[in-house]
Amino acid sequence: MRKRVEDTHDLTENLRKKSVDLNKKACLITNLRGTEQEKDLTLPTNCQGFGRIHHFRLTPKDSRWMPDPLPMLPANKYLNIPQSEVVHTQVFQLAACNFHCWYCFVDHNLLSANPKYSSFVTAKELLGYMLEEEVGSSIIDLSGGQPDIVPEYVLWFLQAREEMGLEKKYFVWTDDNLSTDSLWRYLSRKEIEYMVETPGFARVGCLKGFDPESFAFNTGADKQMFDQQIDLLSDLVETGFDQYGYITLTALNLENLENKISGLFDEIQERVHPNFPLRIIPLQIFHFNANKGRYIHRAEENQYKVIEVWKDELNRRFSKSELKTPITEVSLKR
Ligand code: SF4
Repeated sequence: MRKRVEDTHDLTENLRKKSVDLNKKACLITNLRGTEQEKDLTLPTNCQGFGRIHHFRLTPKDSRWMPDPLPMLPANKYLNIPQSEVVHTQVFQLAACNFHCWYCFVDHNLLSANPKYSSFVTAKELLGYMLEEEVGSSIIDLSGGQPDIVPEYVLWFLQAREEMGLEKKYFVWTDDNLSTDSLWRYLSRKEIEYMVETPGFARVGCLKGFDPESFAFNTGADKQMFDQQIDLLSDLVETGFDQYGYITLTALNLENLENKISGLFDEIQERVHPNFPLRIIPLQIFHFNANKGRYIHRAEENQYKVIEVWKDELNRRFSKSELKTPITEVSLKR
């Protein structure tokens, strides 16, 4: 395993201890009832307050942004259903995160493993609530927080899905913030192989900026961890996961922007895979009730300048037919 930047290591370990019960195979899951985040939801919470429905939209409402086929394209391919404009996804949130992004749509109270806003729940209980309540969504997003603080969270969920005979019914997706190698430290090789090989599961990792400075500005973490994000993406691809990427393009400093974006593409193509930029979707940052006290409007505005440079770089590096390839068909083979 590569050398780890220690900046958030102690915090990650501390959050992990508070967020997992290894004996009961339970994880600390946020209960959204009565929280600031609940005010931002368009549909009521479900699964006894532990779940929410998120609408993923293919075509952005804002014409300045790019289409986002995640997670619907991988999910629809697995579930064998046609592509749709909007999908309803069942989300559960691990109640811990080791970053403090200013734009996070989860209130920070829900990211500190605080038992006031969370409880230990097993994967079987969560799936049981979904069945009892007849939740219509076939896509389950294991989110956070940072789900990889407790990599067992996803492993146990996939195992429970299989044990309950629900593999064909639900596609599982997880979005991690590329901050920790805990997957390889806490799970055995066999367990990781199971996650890689199990059907109907894919992952996305989010690059939290386009250079060390924008990363540190967005997350509050050490600049050096940006380079580590690329290492972690590379490790996930090499391990064999059906891996995708997000990137947030918010920043205050736009000097030498073209060079910075071009340099990032070089690093990703060299260290992760030459095709991996085609599997990365920029995430548009929005204002919510939960982030109102810490929102930085100038950085939000800047993301629209950065995305233009991102699109130019894609067009420079890939042919028209490569750019049209469905994201699920972008090969990561070596
Ligand atoms: S990594 Fe994700 S969950 Fe954590 S603070 Fe940032 S946006 Fe929020």
